[in-house]
Amino acid sequence: MFVTNHVLSGVVIGQLLARQPVTAFAVGVASHLVLDAVPHWGCETYTPEGSARFLRAARVDGFVGLGTMALGVGCVSSGSRLATVAAVAGAVLLDVDKPVKHFFDLELFPRFVNRVHGRIQNDSPDGFGRELAWGLAFVGMDATAVNLRRRFERTPPTP
Ligand SMILES: [Zn+2]
Repeated sequence: MFVTNHVLSGVVIGQLLARQPVTAFAVGVASHLVLDAVPHWGCETYTPEGSARFLRAARVDGFVGLGTMALGVGCVSSGSRLATVAAVAGAVLLDVDKPVKHFFDLELFPRFVNRVHGRIQNDSPDGFGRELAWGLAFVGMDATAVNLRRRFERTPPTP
């Protein structure tokens, strides 16, 4: 799944687990596996054309994901920021290997991690609409969760 969608899912996890950054990180990692297992966009990378297409998409997704990360972390309440950063970091962690491999030609994770990550993929070239639908759903969940969290933190404790 696009890293942007993993970032967006991390924001909602950070809001739900605002007081537990370590748990938020772990749930973020787990969410990555769940989201990669639902139908999403992907293309073959075995041919030069397929590889170039994947790289173009990854480049755009990487920039949009970084912007989304900055916006998401900037919008959350200060009380939930650490958990949100932790959840987003957990949610994107498994995809950090791709830029590391591309730019530095290094394998970041042990082979079994790559094998599990590769096997759970449920991608297809016609999954772009689903990918967008997930993104929009997460934007809605993020906006709701951020607003509820901000309201909750503003409410004075009952005496
Ligand atoms: Zn992944």
